[in-house]
Amino acid sequence: MTTVFAEVADPRSLPRPLSRSLGIPIFDTVAGYSAALDAVRRNGRTVGVVPTMGALHAGHASLIRQAADECDVVAVSIFVNPTQFGDPSDLANYPRTLESDLATVAAAGGQMVFAPSVGEMYPDLQGGAQATVSVPDLGARWEGASRPGHFDGVATVVVKLLEIAGPCRAYFGEKDFQQLAVVRRVVKDRSLPTDVVGCETVRDDTGLALSSRNVRLSSAERQAALVLSRALRTGAALMAQGENDPVAVERAMAELVASEPSVALDYAVVVHADDLEPATTCATERPLRLLTAATVGPVRLIDNLDPRPHRHVDAGRREMASAAGTMS
Ligand code: AMP
Repeated sequence: MTTVFAEVADPRSLPRPLSRSLGIPIFDTVAGYSAALDAVRRNGRTVGVVPTMGALHAGHASLIRQAADECDVVAVSIFVNPTQFGDPSDLANYPRTLESDLATVAAAGGQMVFAPSVGEMYPDLQGGAQATVSVPDLGARWEGASRPGHFDGVATVVVKLLEIAGPCRAYFGEKDFQQLAVVRRVVKDRSLPTDVVGCETVRDDTGLALSSRNVRLSSAERQAALVLSRALRTGAALMAQGENDPVAVERAMAELVASEPSVALDYAVVVHADDLEPATTCATERPLRLLTAATVGPVRLIDNLDPRPHRHVDAGRREMASAAGTMS
């Protein structure tokens, strides 16, 4: 019996996991996982979920750690969702590393794993679902324009995973900024009992955003890929110097990426952080985000940056101070 269920009154009523590894129960059925989380909640404990596609790295681990700080029991799902891949070779080449993933989950404070098969998640069709979820506007631009159907696949599997999990806090990375926006939107529109928590992007020492796909980059490609985070920082620096024209910021980012011939830029844009619509001016109180995507060797990489992080902190402080009556 692990600590997850230690205080459940009648242990015979507990769902049985497929197996255990490092003391972590691994569920591969919807019914077992869902019953296990129900048992946790019946026991008066809160649930945090971290949906992933596996090949876990320090970025995923930071989500799991934050969930463990804020919730009593953390469940990590590991499912390479076929319906969000347009390119069959990308799906076939997606890294699968379950054994080391379990060690990462355990080290970061996760207590349960849900690793279903494709047939378990999509029982009636091979790798598909008939009742799908779609977020047409938010899901059609940027990544959606280059990867048609991608966000329908994401929205569909996230709604399934969150409905299976039941009331919980769900942790998603800002690394996939558009995905986070899509998730917030579907949770709101579908009235799911989920608190969505966005977590900061984890980067390596060179500034490259961690991604499961980075393992497919050669060392030269990895070096070239740094131009993306540099372009984002350049865009943010221009805005800090008073550049209010998004077109000028976008041009500067694109020119920098163009200086790296092995990187094929898809987009480098200034958008509103909530609906991801292109910004028409940077002189706005609305939060903005810089988004970029490019192909480097065999891999499509995405990255993003809050160009004015202090401004939002300052605005938050101003709001709190004025609510407390300490500011005029
Ligand atoms: P994935 O396994 O790539 O589907 O990612 C699972 C979750 O981890 C998503 O919410 C991602 O946004 C998040 N994630 C991936 N990479 C990072 C990173 N470098 N920093 C923070 N979160 C990340």
